[in-house]
Amino acid sequence: THFGFQTVTESEKREKVARVFTSVAEAYDRMNDLMSFGWHRVWKDHFVRTLNPGFSPLTAGPDPRGPQQILDIAGGTGDIAFRMLHTAHVVNRNPDVRVIMSDINRAMLTVGKHRSESLPASQQAALSFLEANAEDLTKARPLVPYPPADPASEEKPFFDPTTATTSIPDNSIDLYTVAFGIRNFSNIPAALREAYRVLKPGGVFACLEFSKADKHPLFNAVYKEWSFRAIPLIGQLVAADRDSYQYLVESIERFPSQEEFRDMILDAGFVIAGEGYEDLTGGVAAIHKGMKP
Ligand code: SAM
Repeated sequence: THFGFQTVTESEKREKVARVFTSVAEAYDRMNDLMSFGWHRVWKDHFVRTLNPGFSPLTAGPDPRGPQQILDIAGGTGDIAFRMLHTAHVVNRNPDVRVIMSDINRAMLTVGKHRSESLPASQQAALSFLEANAEDLTKARPLVPYPPADPASEEKPFFDPTTATTSIPDNSIDLYTVAFGIRNFSNIPAALREAYRVLKPGGVFACLEFSKADKHPLFNAVYKEWSFRAIPLIGQLVAADRDSYQYLVESIERFPSQEEFRDMILDAGFVIAGEGYEDLTGGVAAIHKGMKP
């Protein structure tokens, strides 16, 4: 397969990813900090800053602060969606930016929904939640408050299993983001085709993902040692879940190089500027961008 040394079927991969993220949902934020020494926050801040949501140089007229619809795919517990809203509404003073935060996994999305309740009311009003598989955005399911089975319970479920599915329309999104999600997808070309479909012409696909640090051999050797030995051990000690963290490390190893992934973006029909990607921390992570012509 494209993923190299291990051949897994699409459905096996899908089940594995669902198990991993359901089991790590609650501990996810703490683990991210431990595993990356807090670097994921720096990368996410940089990713959002470079996208500068709420300010579009493409918007005609003297004021580039027009309305924007952002779709955050594989949004997990909300790190990117919340940063987008803050930059757009507070830094760029553009309240006309709306964010759809989506993920295939209800447990992650529900943690995100609870976290979003501490955002300012105006940002909460501009945020919506969708349960969606990035590979098929025609069958998304909105997350809506749903009464608990026991009315006395403190539990706040958000999914109404009877809600009909909805399709994200063609040419409806200004900015599509995916951070640390795409390497988990079973069919990356299908996800890229869906990104292309939902984006407006001129809309931007932006991806932040772990990548290859092999341009610096010594640094790479230390990084490999850290990820293959320490991360599964930390997972075992902190979350009593060695397997999930072992999977995370292996999924990073199997993900294509910066150049291979850039070529997949081009194959989906996007146009790129320059090399099409930016390395972060020596290539431990990378940002790829493409525009729908
Ligand atoms: N974007 C968030 C962040 O940066 O903190 C979350 C990243 S988390 C490592 C990866 C997420 O991808 C998980 O929440 C998982 O459920 C989601 N995911 C995996 N496969 C997916 C798919 N096919 N479609 C949508 N989301 C998916």
